[in-house]
Amino acid sequence: MSHGDDPRTHDVIDPSTEQVVDTVELADVEQTDRAIERAAAAQRQWARLAPADRGRLLRRFADVVDSHIEDLARLEVRGAGHTIGNARWEAGNVRDVLAYYSAAPERLFGRQIPVADGIDVTFKEPLGVVGVIVPWNFPMPIAGWGFAPALAAGNAVVLKPAELTPLTAMMLGRLAVEAGLPEHLLSVVPGRGSVVGERFVTHPLVRKICFTGSTAVGQRIMRGAADQVKRVTLELGGKSANIVFADSDLERAAATAPYAVFDNAGQDCCARSRILVQRSVHDRFLELLESAVQKVRVGDPGADDAEMGPLISDGQRRTVRSFVEDAEQPVDVLFRGSAPEGAGFWYPPTVVRPRSVADPVWREEVFGPVVAVLPFDDEAEAIAMANDTAYGLSGSIWTRDVGRALRVSRGVEAGNLSVNSHSSVRYSTPFGGFKQSGLGRELGPDALDSFTEVKNVYIATGD
Ligand code: NAD
Repeated sequence: MSHGDDPRTHDVIDPSTEQVVDTVELADVEQTDRAIERAAAAQRQWARLAPADRGRLLRRFADVVDSHIEDLARLEVRGAGHTIGNARWEAGNVRDVLAYYSAAPERLFGRQIPVADGIDVTFKEPLGVVGVIVPWNFPMPIAGWGFAPALAAGNAVVLKPAELTPLTAMMLGRLAVEAGLPEHLLSVVPGRGSVVGERFVTHPLVRKICFTGSTAVGQRIMRGAADQVKRVTLELGGKSANIVFADSDLERAAATAPYAVFDNAGQDCCARSRILVQRSVHDRFLELLESAVQKVRVGDPGADDAEMGPLISDGQRRTVRSFVEDAEQPVDVLFRGSAPEGAGFWYPPTVVRPRSVADPVWREEVFGPVVAVLPFDDEAEAIAMANDTAYGLSGSIWTRDVGRALRVSRGVEAGNLSVNSHSSVRYSTPFGGFKQSGLGRELGPDALDSFTEVKNVYIATGD
């Protein structure tokens, strides 16, 4: 039965069939408060456990996730339209991030600092309850990047999944209990941003917000957090550049470019949605790109060979269209890939030529399978064009010249760059944005610092 009009529930829709997958109850403010209070109690219990035991429980959580990879992945295919290949990787990423940070409880070292007439030591203390707020585009990895290091650093977590995609987060919450983590230590609270998310920001027991989502909501959270000087980590939007120099392996650059932007149907904050090509190879690059785009397999995301699925919702498809067909002055579509017709929120991979760098499709985050291509003349112009954006999340640089690769990497104002590759995310290396793409870094060895407070203790030794 559909509860479509009930404000206390949300129907999760399969984006490839438009059928209701499940109906989820949305928490109100009282339920959110209870989850936060219980998490605070569980945190005190968690912090009393021996570091080795906390590590062991996190490893067990990783193992339980590992034994449910296929269930989690299938649920993400239905509830979010991710391709099965991607969804398996995403569930595996949760396992890997848990395993990586399970080593942390026994390695949260402080320092001993030389001082007169005593000794001075520092401790990395947990914050208490951390609120993790997740967007709909990568429900599993983004949840894990928040909760795994937060728990490893001795905190409890209240986690709000996005309204559209709560199912895998809810399952991860159940798996945490199955693995033996204290009840309520990781509490998944499905609900609206304006209710549950806002309450995380205003509740004094929540000491930090770890937010991933749009820049507009991130700004609002940062403003709200100021009232209690609440800590924030923000991972926001992007408009990343894929810079292709004439001296690159042009075949590889063109063959991989579609996957750098159309993966997850372009609903990826790291999508390289602007391609900058050196003018002397521009026409040849476009020929190669056209055949690569036509090879992208768009279809039933549950099929093993699917490379791209549908968009998350009809609303998102309307937004994407507004940058191409429905723009006040429609942009020039250079070529397109294919997409199924009929039920499902499908949109084909689309390559466009903006009229100028002022065009919204060149400046704004489309969050769909649309990429804009423009030529540049030299290295300085490429860097200037790449940096001409409010964002600074990721980017790629294609060249065979090592010096140029390093110069351009240092010149582009973005947190995650790759040379002759499009990889952005490894759980062992830091991830985050420059400028309006965010604040702080997730993953890697340093993420633990943003889930702890440094405490300094001086002990007088007397004379
Ligand atoms: P969104 O900002 O609308 O929502 C993100 C989350 O915030 C959801 O859970 C939502 O319910 C919640 N929220 C909404 N209003 C809130 C409020 N007032 N207070 C507290 N929480 C609130 O974003 P979205 O549409 O779900 O996700 C798409 C955006 O996320 C894109 O702009 C994308 O670039 C960005 N994103 C960034 C990264 C990154 O790592 N930088 C990763 C993924 C997505």
